[in-house]
Amino acid sequence: MPVNADAGTDTKTEAHSLPINELFYSLQGEGKLAGVPTVFVRTSGCNLRCWFCDSYHTSWEPTHAQMTITEIVKEVESYDANHVVVTGGEPLVHEETNILLDRLSDAGYHTTVETNGTLFRDTAIDLASISPKLASSTPTAERDPKGDGEWAERHEERRIDIDALAKFVDSYETQLKFVVTDESDLEEIETLVSKIRDAADAPIRDTDVLLMPEGATRERLDENRERVAELAMEYGYRYTPRLHVDLWNDAPGT
Ligand code: SF4
Repeated sequence: MPVNADAGTDTKTEAHSLPINELFYSLQGEGKLAGVPTVFVRTSGCNLRCWFCDSYHTSWEPTHAQMTITEIVKEVESYDANHVVVTGGEPLVHEETNILLDRLSDAGYHTTVETNGTLFRDTAIDLASISPKLASSTPTAERDPKGDGEWAERHEERRIDIDALAKFVDSYETQLKFVVTDESDLEEIETLVSKIRDAADAPIRDTDVLLMPEGATRERLDENRERVAELAMEYGYRYTPRLHVDLWNDAPGT
């Protein structure tokens, strides 16, 4: 843990809480920090409903325990890591996430926030790992895990907010991480990256744009990782593995 961790508590961290789906120690599996020992704090609740959501119990059927910020930080400090990922669900739906991030930053942790990029917050983020949701994420009736397509319209309306995405890029070190289901996603990725580049003042390098194969199991990744790697080479973007799936398949808490 960082040298200035265990810096005590204050009334804010005692009084505020977050719905926590899981909190665990693992390796960062994706993106620029892949392979780094990291504590994951997974909040419950999301403003979107991707059909392929790999954290179903934070979105489609949210489950959680309510933990105070003090309890969360204490548990984070029980692991020997300098990096913390705050993920979800969508962690930025909760105002209290700001308090958690401030507290972690004060304690000396490097913080990554995994977000869908639709809800900007001005807070203590060292790396904004933004995963904008493509049209292929929409839970149409045929793909909806609940089978009724009830969320399709709401999801489609909310999934992209160019102003919010540009604010993230201008405010934080960012990576734009796209879940690629097939080659047809690339045209949409190119258009979206170009729109964000136009709206943001800060530059987006091609190596800040990450292509990640869709798949929460080794079997599914085996089907499409090679094609996604070839697409990364073709377009000049960065390929990101899903190390945790390669190492532990779909075991919970990894
Ligand atoms: S934005 Fe993320 S957490 Fe929310 S439904 Fe989509 S994949 Fe799941």
